[in-house]
Amino acid sequence: MTLIVEDLVAGYGDARVLHGVRLTVGDGEICAILGPNGAGKTTLLRALSGMVKVRGRIALDGAELAGRPPDALARQGVAHVPEGRGTFMPLTVEENLRLGAYVRRDRASVEEDLERVHTYFPVLRTRLKQAAGSLSGGEQQMLAIGRALMLRPRLLLLDEPSLGLAPLVTRELFRIVQAVNAEERTTVVVVEQNAHLALGIAQQAHVLETGRIVLSGTAERIRADEQVAQSYLGYR
Ligand code: ATP
Repeated sequence: MTLIVEDLVAGYGDARVLHGVRLTVGDGEICAILGPNGAGKTTLLRALSGMVKVRGRIALDGAELAGRPPDALARQGVAHVPEGRGTFMPLTVEENLRLGAYVRRDRASVEEDLERVHTYFPVLRTRLKQAAGSLSGGEQQMLAIGRALMLRPRLLLLDEPSLGLAPLVTRELFRIVQAVNAEERTTVVVVEQNAHLALGIAQQAHVLETGRIVLSGTAERIRADEQVAQSYLGYR
């Protein structure tokens, strides 16, 4: 499975945010999107999950996704974990997880998938009947990713998963994302301020500035780039 994005233009009303983004993510790869505040990283993920209007091409495994609504994209296996997580706070952990499978027709395997999510996130099993709003920040992020996994995604979009989390929790979260990617061959696009962590798990990375990709390459190559090191890695 490959994600191909070509000449992607997106924005809000008349305000254009993405100006012709082009990128490819290979089958089962993790792709990191770096860039300064306001560059359009969140908008790019929203474009990929059908939450903003787009022009251009988005193809997943040969299927054209551009212009299709979010629920259709969810059915195609696109799962978006937004910044701020998007969990339903008054609902229990279990209800949130089950909601993640809402577009699935194969109800029997939903139980199997709940089990699978608990294997990745054992803490959620112990919190099933608890309101999502009562979880810690790290647990909520785990729930948000767990809910996305209930979709059996082929493409998992993660927006700032480390936001507001302690370093130890963040490292654990990234370890789990890496395990999901390795075991399920889920393709991942991750937007992340913590460039060290993102480049640590990604094979490919792109730097987005004012709605354009200004640098692309292997995670190693991006890490070695002088400008990236100065702007995003905090050294040199
Ligand atoms: P950050 O790292 O700060 O989250 P980002 O790279 O994710 O930034 P976006 O959130 O995609 O950037 O925002 C890109 C631009 O689009 C910004 O100028 C922002 O003000 C604008 N924008 C974002 N959301 C909306 C919206 N709902 N309506 C109008 N403009 C928006």
